[in-house]
Amino acid sequence: MGSEGTDTSLEDDLLEELRSAIHPAAGDAERRASDSKEAEDDDVSKPQPLPQPEHVTAEAARKASLYAAVEDVIDRCLEAGHETVDLSSMSLDSVPNESLRRLKALTKHAMIMNTDLTQMSYSPIEVALQLYLSNNTIAAFPSEILNLISLRVLSLRQNRLTHIPAALARLPHLEQLNLSGNQLQHLPYEMLRLHDRERFSLIATPNPFAELESSKAPDLNLGDYRSGRAPLLVAQSTPTLFYADASTVKPDVNVVAANSGRVPSLLELALRKCKDLQGVAEMDDWCCTGGGPSSLKLPLALAQQTAAYGDFECTLCSRRFVVPRVQWLEWWNVPTWPRSRHGLPRRLPPAIIPFLRRGCSWACVKELGHVV
Ligand SMILES: [Zn+2]
Repeated sequence: MGSEGTDTSLEDDLLEELRSAIHPAAGDAERRASDSKEAEDDDVSKPQPLPQPEHVTAEAARKASLYAAVEDVIDRCLEAGHETVDLSSMSLDSVPNESLRRLKALTKHAMIMNTDLTQMSYSPIEVALQLYLSNNTIAAFPSEILNLISLRVLSLRQNRLTHIPAALARLPHLEQLNLSGNQLQHLPYEMLRLHDRERFSLIATPNPFAELESSKAPDLNLGDYRSGRAPLLVAQSTPTLFYADASTVKPDVNVVAANSGRVPSLLELALRKCKDLQGVAEMDDWCCTGGGPSSLKLPLALAQQTAAYGDFECTLCSRRFVVPRVQWLEWWNVPTWPRSRHGLPRRLPPAIIPFLRRGCSWACVKELGHVV
């Protein structure tokens, strides 16, 4: 399926990007197979075994020491009810999900200033969690952050992230987000919704974002950006279509016209079932170590990504899926500056940021009016 119309280098790049987003220490499949121990060490979703002194390597000892320091910081915050968790500048290349998960238990009590005590004096008040992970070397977005419902402020400034999950936009109270100084080529389209929140502020530059061709950019007066103004669409790339196995379709109008339904493929249904049964990692290992067909590598990498960070959601019809059938970039002019103490935007230059849109079917993108 689709073997004649594929662009191998594009798929290799996509596969590498997916793998680095989840397993930053593991590159291609072959290296993963030979370095399976190293990949295990870097998999923050697995419990970290206690180091045994006679077998421990210097790297494992270093990591155990860092994770113990993380636990100390979190212990102090939990004991004192501190909402500001500062894990910045700790030389962390990952953060254990188990440690972050404990922050869900953070409670804060009102300060009792007088002796007129009521039942309310002892009731926990709403937590406004602030998590600072800046100035580290984190390469894979810690998935447990997506479960921190009380998160208001998140700083991932100066790390090595190549991917931000779309599910970050579902955190209901997120108000400040700093992603500057990473390796991001685009942000998920879903994050544009965060700008509907009156108090939301984003700092996303600098990052090596995909550049907008000057020929496609309208003559915008970027200096006229005002507080509260909604993001503005500047330009969009030509959509890239994918077959059901995630291989790339070369431009072929006849193929698209003949395959424009919304019915999910059998592979898509099988991947969803495999994910529900939590068998994706095992399938992926089996495929990467030569047990399975190479055509399954990319679909299984996508299934791994959605297992860690949640299903993709079609930005056109809201259906959920594992294998995107179409994607394209949209450059939006968005307010990226933080607000001052008085709620007014600070004077920083506005930014044009590329957002990646994904769709569940070719039919969806045709309805949008794209010429494909
Ligand atoms: Zn759709």
